[in-house]
Amino acid sequence: MLLSPHFSLAELCRSKTADLCNIQNRPEEIQIRALALLAKHILEPVRSAFRIPFTPTSAYRSSALNRMLGSSDHSQHVKGEAADIKLAGVSTFDLARWIRDNLVFDQLILECVTPGREQSGWVHCSFSAKQARGDVLTYARGEYIRGLVLTG
Ligand SMILES: [Zn+2]
Repeated sequence: MLLSPHFSLAELCRSKTADLCNIQNRPEEIQIRALALLAKHILEPVRSAFRIPFTPTSAYRSSALNRMLGSSDHSQHVKGEAADIKLAGVSTFDLARWIRDNLVFDQLILECVTPGREQSGWVHCSFSAKQARGDVLTYARGEYIRGLVLTG
């Protein structure tokens, strides 16, 4: 089932950890609707701007899977509102900056970029029908910093 021209429900629910640990990772209708909005407002615009096919490394996570990954119960992944993205051949910082400057989003986090390795880490981006805070953070060495920051 396609949620948008280039993104299927299956790929937005795929998880190696869920497979390995035999955890159910099946969204309800409300999370499917959120994933479709995420695909329309974040994933498709990224794909057409960079013209690079990609599958998020993580999008929907059931509560059980999310806990297994050590993430907060309040994570927007559990609501189907967030995806972690990286693009082959594009610096993670540049991807985050493009989203910040071009898209309407709820929260954007540049995560775990290793100094000197520009394609390391990933971009966490959420879209919500209820709020568009435009919150921008960098997560590095276990702490959150406001804005997009290359640490090193
Ligand atoms: Zn994330």
